Amino acid sequence: MKHASTDIDIVKSTTSKLDSVDFENLKFGHVFTDHMMECDYEDGAWKTPVIKPYGKIELEPSAKVFHYGQAVFEGMKAFRDDNDKIWLFRPDENFKRINLSSKRLAIPEFPEEYFFQGLEELLKIDKEWIKKGFGNSLYIRPFVIATEPGVLASPGASYKFMIICSPAKSYYTGEVRVQISEKYSRAADGGVGAAKAAGNYGAQFYPTNLAKEAGFQQIIWTDANSHEFLEEAGTMNVFFRVNDTLLTAPVNDRILDGVTRKSILSLAEANSIKAEVRRVSVKEIIEAAKNGSLKEIFGAGTAAVINPIQGFGYKGERYELPKITDSYASFFKDKLMKIQYNLAEDEFGWRYEVKE
Ligand SMILES: *Cc1c(COP(=O)(O)O)cnc(C)c1O
Repeated sequence: MKHASTDIDIVKSTTSKLDSVDFENLKFGHVFTDHMMECDYEDGAWKTPVIKPYGKIELEPSAKVFHYGQAVFEGMKAFRDDNDKIWLFRPDENFKRINLSSKRLAIPEFPEEYFFQGLEELLKIDKEWIKKGFGNSLYIRPFVIATEPGVLASPGASYKFMIICSPAKSYYTGEVRVQISEKYSRAADGGVGAAKAAGNYGAQFYPTNLAKEAGFQQIIWTDANSHEFLEEAGTMNVFFRVNDTLLTAPVNDRILDGVTRKSILSLAEANSIKAEVRRVSVKEIIEAAKNGSLKEIFGAGTAAVINPIQGFGYKGERYELPKITDSYASFFKDKLMKIQYNLAEDEFGWRYEVKE
């Protein structure tokens, strides 16, 4: 990828929070780096992006984002290798996806050169926040909100695109058991499930709390029409391993086209692991759990990479998965992370270097 040069205004922070952060005990998404990127859309155009000290922003209470939910975001990571080179993982996918999400929410698309130049400048300015070591990363959160004041229900005429960054450590999520949803769904045909829209998350919290009260950590969402097919696990794409075959739902307008998901499918193909991309029914997974052919379930997404699931509940019954040693979950996690940290050959061209 080549990105044309853009003028970005840079206002550097005079102090740094770096020394006050305990990098050994990071809570995910809790601390933010010294700088952020901000770019406003006004009068039909995106203005010059600015990198400035991380801090509060001021909006009118009537700003449309608060009333009509025009808000989309992305999640990506930067990694530092053993030779102090900084890498992103398939950032072109995140760029394309934020604009697909924006389009669905009637938000103006963001220019590619602003996205990449702003992101790379920001990472260079805050590069001390990207720590060496397998599992350490910088979580990057680009997002766009409608800022125009006024409660008339219409798309805003002004927007703010921002990027904020938070140092992260790979974390152990503990044992995860999920409830297969019988009533709630996260998306419907023709809806916004394929967009990384903030509202999709807001709508998930209540059913997820109910699942927690019932003793589960997450929900596996089923299709809104029949609740017979498995779609996503929490905020991750979901994979099932039946015998040695990997199963995952096809992407459509209810399912988020995850970068981790599609990378796993490419890795499966390259490593001769059979994968079927098709609708997966609750019925077949329960049968597979009963006859012992269901070996694994795992979620896939940027934040945790792969999240193994030990068991699930459905209609009051609980099912436990066998403990296995040579799991696909750890195989794919290791393969993916070694590519991300420049510890393995990048046969697919997924790494993107942030050059000095
Ligand atoms: C972000 C997200 C994912 C994972 O996508 P990645 O690109 O792999 O991080 C999966 N499902 C939902 C609903 C998401 O919002």
